[in-house]
Amino acid sequence: MSEAMRTHHCGVLRAEDAGRSVALCGWVARRREHGEHLAFVDLRDHTGVVQCVVDGAADLRSEFVVRITGTVRERPEGTTNDQLPTGAIEVGNCSVEILNAAEPPPFPVSDRIEADESVRLRYRYVDLRRSKMQHNLRVRSKVNSAIRHAMERQGFVEIETPMLWTPTPEGAREFLVPSRLQPGRNYVLPQSPQIAKQLLMVGGFDRYFQIARCLRDEDLRADRQFEFMQLDIEAAFTTQEEIHGFIGEAVADATEAISGERPVIETLTWTEAMERFGTDKPDLRFGMELVELTPVFSATGFKAFQAACIKGIRVPGASPDYGRSKLDGLTDRAKSLGAKGLVWMRVAAGGALESPVAKFLSDDEQAALTSTMEAQPGDLLLLVADERRLVQEVLGQLRNDIGRPPVSDGPYRFAWVTEFPMFDGVDDEGHPIAAHHPFTMPHPDDLDLLETDPGKVRSQSYDLVLNGWELGSGSIRIHRSDIQARVFKALGVTDEDAEGRFGFLLGAFRYGAPPHGGFAVGLDRLVAILAGEENIREVIAFPKASSGTDPMTGAPKPVDARVLAGLGLRTLPPST
Ligand code: ASP
Repeated sequence: MSEAMRTHHCGVLRAEDAGRSVALCGWVARRREHGEHLAFVDLRDHTGVVQCVVDGAADLRSEFVVRITGTVRERPEGTTNDQLPTGAIEVGNCSVEILNAAEPPPFPVSDRIEADESVRLRYRYVDLRRSKMQHNLRVRSKVNSAIRHAMERQGFVEIETPMLWTPTPEGAREFLVPSRLQPGRNYVLPQSPQIAKQLLMVGGFDRYFQIARCLRDEDLRADRQFEFMQLDIEAAFTTQEEIHGFIGEAVADATEAISGERPVIETLTWTEAMERFGTDKPDLRFGMELVELTPVFSATGFKAFQAACIKGIRVPGASPDYGRSKLDGLTDRAKSLGAKGLVWMRVAAGGALESPVAKFLSDDEQAALTSTMEAQPGDLLLLVADERRLVQEVLGQLRNDIGRPPVSDGPYRFAWVTEFPMFDGVDDEGHPIAAHHPFTMPHPDDLDLLETDPGKVRSQSYDLVLNGWELGSGSIRIHRSDIQARVFKALGVTDEDAEGRFGFLLGAFRYGAPPHGGFAVGLDRLVAILAGEENIREVIAFPKASSGTDPMTGAPKPVDARVLAGLGLRTLPPST
């Protein structure tokens, strides 16, 4: 058997290794001349860099791939580098074998230098050598591993579901795959394994999981790619609390594997989240909760406060930081979010409220406002009056704008948000739109409202939120065809539509469907937060650029007319 190419990784060598003969492999990170013949060559692999003292290194250039053999020795006094884990030693008596030459890299392989993202993506294989990308993808691998172990430990079976599939119910635009053997027909790339996993429940696999790839043809954002990974689970003969437990174990294990911290997961209802934080994905890392002020102004003479709902947020100690132009900026922001205006008040040293509207409020109202908001001198108070949902959303957004810490700041504050409304808004034809998906079971107490007051129906669906990011959603499903028919009816889905789109699922439900429910956690987002990254592209090996293209491969690309013809397709000229 031949010897291994290397004996050690570059970044692991320490003073204790002095005297050891080593063989190292990696990339030339830097070469610095040292006297006439000698050069310092920093050799890099994924574990870090080590300084090698090389005689006759003239041929070596950045990013050459080399094998260096030599002896570890302590660095001479005064030349050690505390900043570098290997900074106490160097490798001497080196002989260098060039394994492959390299052209000068398109950008330096360094975490300190930010190259333009399009260049980074075009040369992603070079970008991946940076220690940040090495770290991020290894975080990802550990998260996957922790999750897989947690699910297996809890008795879940990993099952793969097809990529060539039929429309799924998440409601996003889908990627089509034209069929060659059945011209004119198409497969759909799955938006999620939703239907397949429900069929697995009918099939008797009562604990399923998959680290699944999902595809949705929607505009890209910092937290959204066309394709993304989910921890997807489904369980039969279960309860919502049990599902929270299963997923809670998986995400807590993953968080602990990366940070050493085991998070606790809080639970709040959707109504509570909206009332306290003005959003269904509250960031619990900071306060500034929305305070209910409607009763304080129930008999007010001030016109602008004669509204269905008034709430406020208190920004502690912020009064001195908010001059007139910053306050105008906040008002413009509130208006752009749909508010008619924003009332601001400063709490003066003696506790008096300073505000253009203070003179319209009675002494009692001012006193009640101060005590309800627990206002202290130096605080800034921001109030919005309007319809309840609008007040919540505007203040929720201002709270985030003003107080939200960067993603890299801990701690990890997970929360379950439960009892979402069944429907959210109405479509063009006036039918309510499913807030989760149409297979979600309504709250048992609200079933009778399905026909009479659908807007009031709560669902048995729940989201998992981490530090203000929605990590995923799930629900207890409808397993009875009579309830499914009522929900489809409320959604305006005709029997014919339902049969055409989901007939095979409804059919399966006639053959013994157990009660079941599930969840899916967005892994790109979870990994991004655990890696401290704002943008999920930083935790994906080969992401698409925000335009949806891949600068490295050039995809998407036109294809030959003959290939199209083979699929029964023809391209129309671009519409103008
Ligand atoms: N299929 C859903 C989604 O992708 C998750 C679930 O309900 O399990 O959002």
